[in-house]
Order: sequence, then structure tokens, then C-alpha cells
Amino acid sequence: MTVSDAGARDVAVPDEVANNVVITSIAKLLDPAYNWARRNSVWPMVFGLACCAIEMICTAASRYDLARFGMEVFRATPRQSDLMIVSGTVTKKMIPTIVRLYNQMPEPRYVMAMGACASGGGPFKDGYNVVDGIDKFLPVDVYVPGCPPTPQALINGLIALQEKIDQQSLATAPWYKKDDPTTGLYEIPVLGPDLIDVRQLDRIRAEAAKYEAQKAEETAVAEEAEAVAG
Ligand code: SF4
Repeated sequence: MTVSDAGARDVAVPDEVANNVVITSIAKLLDPAYNWARRNSVWPMVFGLACCAIEMICTAASRYDLARFGMEVFRATPRQSDLMIVSGTVTKKMIPTIVRLYNQMPEPRYVMAMGACASGGGPFKDGYNVVDGIDKFLPVDVYVPGCPPTPQALINGLIALQEKIDQQSLATAPWYKKDDPTTGLYEIPVLGPDLIDVRQLDRIRAEAAKYEAQKAEETAVAEEAEAVAG
């Protein structure tokens, strides 16, 4: 019997150890078990925003049997949820609450943008009160297209999430590598006369200062022209 090493050379294996299992990496041994447990117990949050939520509710009903995927346990609290399914139109009024709920979910946590509205604003993209995609504020793991997506499409998205979980490794999981416990918390936007993304405050201040300077310059020019004319 031979095996190939990293340099693709064949190495002869002595007969007395041919039936043994050699572990070369603990992560490779643990990852499948770790991911198998997580992928089959993703608990979504009870959380709906608009018409897409009706399809999500249908998906949770008996006809589609989400229990096959270990996902039937919709939780009514973010503290016990692994997955936020953003199902519906994301309005500026709702976004501070959505980001706060996300921050309250324990890691590892996932976000799914269900439907055209959550993915990019959908038919209401140009509305004065609509955020054009939840990914402007939260990291999205899976996008499910459609208006609304069917239960089958949502299940397909859930399977895509399982495939993503399968690719993760204990050795590189970001949620075990935090020196700062606030890492991973997202700034909660402020709803004033319009939505203020606090991550953009420096840019907003710079633009406001630029606008004020331009106004002052225009006023000075106008006053000078008035003085010359008078
Ligand atoms: S994507 Fe379509 S079905 Fe879903 S919330 Fe938007 S308008 Fe409603």
C-alpha cells in the first residue's frame, strides 16, 4: 500500500500500520462533528417585516417540514437564535431595531436576506422610507431572490446556509478569536428627520463643513457684488 504526501510522492506504508487511522490535524477531525451539529440545529428568529414573512410562515408549517433540517424551532428571542431571516421591506423606522436585535444574537449568527426588498429594496427601492438592502447595515450570508420567494426557494437558501456552515472551521472561526468583546457589534443607526448611519458621521461632518464653507463663500461674493453696485 502507498499514500501520497504533500509533494505528491508515493510513500510506502508498512503492512502493520496499514489499517490504522492517522490524525494529522485536530481541526480536521473536529470540524465535521462541530459543523454537523450546528448545521442541523439552526434556530431562526421569529421575525417578519412584510409580505415575504407570510411565505416564511408557510415554510414553517407542516407541509414543508422544516424539522428535516433541524430548523423548525423558531425562537421568540434573539438570545436563542442563530439565524435572522430578514423577510420583507426594510424601512428606515425598523432598521435601528433590526440592528439591535442582531447585536443581541449570540455568535455564531447568520443573516439571510429573503426576497427582493431585503436584498436590494425591491419594488419600493425609491421610497423615501425604504432602506435599499439589509446589507447596507448587516453582513448577509445568503440572499434568496424572488418577490416573494416561494417556500421552496427559502428552503434552498437554508440549504445554502448549511453548505456555508460546512465550510467553516474551528481553527479559523472568528467568534473564538476576539480580544475585544465588542467586536462584531454593529453601530445602531439613528432615526431622526432621516436615517443617520453613525458609521458615516465623520463623512457627514466633512460634507456639512464643506457645504457651510461654500455657502459662506457665496454670501461673501454676493455682498461684495452688492457693495460694488451700491
Ligand atoms: S420582496 Fe415582494 S413579497 Fe417580499 S416583502 Fe418585498 S414586495 Fe413583499
